[in-house]
Amino acid sequence: MTHHQILIVGGGAAGLTVASQLRRARPGLEIAILEPSGDHYYQPGWTLVGGGVFSLEQTRRPEEQLIPEGVRWIRDAVSGFDPAASSVTTASGDTLSYDVLVVATGIRLCWDRIKGLPEALGSNGITSNYSKDTVDYTWKTIQEFQGGNALFTYPDTPIKCAGAPQKIMYLADDVFRRSPELAGRSHVIYATATPGIFGIPVYAAPLREIVARRGIDARYQHTLTEVRPDTKEAVFTVREGESTREEVIPFAMIHVTPPMAAPEVVASSPLAVDGPGGWVEVEKYSTQHVRFPNVFSLGDVSSLPNSKTAAAVRGQAPVLVANLLAHLDGQPLAARYDGYACCPLITGYGKVIMAEFNYEGEPVPSFPHDPTRESWLMWIVKTKLLPWIYWNRMLKGLPHERRFMPGVVH
Ligand SMILES: Cc1cc2nc3c(=O)[nH]c(=O)nc-3n(C[C@H](O)[C@H](O)[C@H](O)COP(=O)(O)OP(=O)(O)OC[C@H]3O[C@@H](n4cnc5c(N)ncnc54)[C@H](O)[C@@H]3O)c2cc1C
Repeated sequence: MTHHQILIVGGGAAGLTVASQLRRARPGLEIAILEPSGDHYYQPGWTLVGGGVFSLEQTRRPEEQLIPEGVRWIRDAVSGFDPAASSVTTASGDTLSYDVLVVATGIRLCWDRIKGLPEALGSNGITSNYSKDTVDYTWKTIQEFQGGNALFTYPDTPIKCAGAPQKIMYLADDVFRRSPELAGRSHVIYATATPGIFGIPVYAAPLREIVARRGIDARYQHTLTEVRPDTKEAVFTVREGESTREEVIPFAMIHVTPPMAAPEVVASSPLAVDGPGGWVEVEKYSTQHVRFPNVFSLGDVSSLPNSKTAAAVRGQAPVLVANLLAHLDGQPLAARYDGYACCPLITGYGKVIMAEFNYEGEPVPSFPHDPTRESWLMWIVKTKLLPWIYWNRMLKGLPHERRFMPGVVH
């Protein structure tokens, strides 16, 4: 058995940020990251890959370039958690023990919960920005679209980046509108399992106006259950009050956002919440596990009840790091996470509503302008500033002020 002072499981946006911040805060700490993948992707760039603005390669970096100096990278996957014994097992059969564990394994994409989808994805106009293997195909599909129904779906589970299913729709609609004939032949449908366009009311209002302005056919309470590639049909369960009915919608193209949950290894462990999703059950302000005090979690796999985004990780990581160090020192955990999350809602080429909000759903803007309005400046922030901050500040554990508004203290 190998022992580590700090063991971080998952070297994605959250795991790398925490490792870097811990090294800077206390260089003497002994830290290991358990991460099987040789590449790391800037997933917030994938909407722009699907919209033909970025290449997929622009969003990729080798993992070894991102592991902070002095941190040990164990290229392996966790296969079991034993928090009572403060240890994990790995896919290659090792057992690793720890003083403190940070769980940051990200989310599981449940493609197989939609009948016919795993085999069909990436052909017949069936695509998704949620996989690096099909995000290029999204752009190809949009470019080759010749009219008919363009369907964009949203599942009945929490997902990462709740805005992404509609952002790609607005980009696609812009492309279709470049040709008046094509625009006349296209019918854009947003079929979502949710009861409304967006969960945060202050940002839902302008989105409803945009949907109406574009003539998009928004269908709520629609959960995708099956894709039929041969006949190009999508099957939905539609909730109407207490009852449900089936609806079959033909499509020329479909962008699918799959249902999501915690990875099985987490969901089946003692760390998981008792209920759907199987997220790591942490206290929402401190990020500490509710039953195992030497376990912390952040990012998509955590039960933190906010929007699952890389931007939220920016808010969570400093709190987790401060509380983890306090735990090591036997001090009370004083840092509190306010639920900050950000979803840059791309509403067309050159237009973004920078939706920033906290646990209360209140807008917490970083910039001195009305956050509910579409803005070209925020498009520049989304396409240039945020990727730069991610690679050069956030993953390196450097301060990355999320509030750029002079004089505003949150
Ligand atoms: C299409 C799309 C658009 C998005 N848009 C935005 C946006 O505009 N803004 C925004 O802020 N966020 C956006 N996001 C969300 C953002 O990418 C995630 O919220 C963020 O990456 C979460 O970080 P994480 O570390 O929790 O998960 P990840 O970054 O996914 O990292 C998880 C890591 O855990 C590893 N792992 C998995 N299983 C195991 C295991 N068994 N053992 C060890 N390691 C394991 C994985 O290999 C991975 O490296 C978007 C995501 C997508 C897909």
